[in-house]
Amino acid sequence: MRAKIAAGNWKMNGTAAALSELDALAALLPATPPTVVLCPPAPLLYRASEAARAHGIAIGAQDCHMDASGPFTGDISATMVADTGASHVIVGHSERRDAHEETNSDVRAKARQAWAAGLTAIICIGESGDDRAANNTLDIIAGQLAGSLPDGATATNTVIAYEPIWAIGTGKVPTLAEIIDVHDFIRTRLCARCGATEGDGIPLLYGGSVKPDNARTIFKAANVDGALVGGASLKASDFAPIITALS
Ligand code: 13P
Repeated sequence: MRAKIAAGNWKMNGTAAALSELDALAALLPATPPTVVLCPPAPLLYRASEAARAHGIAIGAQDCHMDASGPFTGDISATMVADTGASHVIVGHSERRDAHEETNSDVRAKARQAWAAGLTAIICIGESGDDRAANNTLDIIAGQLAGSLPDGATATNTVIAYEPIWAIGTGKVPTLAEIIDVHDFIRTRLCARCGATEGDGIPLLYGGSVKPDNARTIFKAANVDGALVGGASLKASDFAPIITALS
């Protein structure tokens, strides 16, 4: 059985006061929750990790550097992320690929650093609206997957998040059939690349406008093992029903 994962990406939202949402979330979790990973901004990682431990909630960073250490002012290494108590790190989010011009090979290097630090890498891929309109979705996904995933991915060191860029923060969501198509395609590619055992064990998350009212439908897809949630992860009252829908 593949792990079910509900991951929340707070993006650049929240100061220390927002950590009260973590306690509120813990109080709303179902009796047997899936793996819950909260990814707050970097300055909150240590405090979030301390607060989350008692609740069995995992903490992740939203990025790490592609090098282990060095003269990279303002950047954060995977080892530093692990040192805060975090267990996961998102790499290759479309907002970083776009605003920080991160390439597939950058993302691959970041995932390697994550593994070296003992972290699970949540590797994000996803097509733009133009790619989708031009019927290029699967080609784009295949290219990102081939380029962003290092050799050696396993069911425990890697999670893949499929986030169509046009669905992020827009309220637009692909049809269930479209989600199934892409997730089945990713699964096939992972099995070909990593072997059937690891390829079948790597959790696949859907991300892009996941809300309490659409989560249950999205989770019907056999190869959707959870969600990477943005806006709806900021408030425990929104995130908890999504987590419950996955349980
Ligand atoms: P939204 O859930 O706000 O659309 O964001 C998705 C996302 O980018 C998560 O990483």
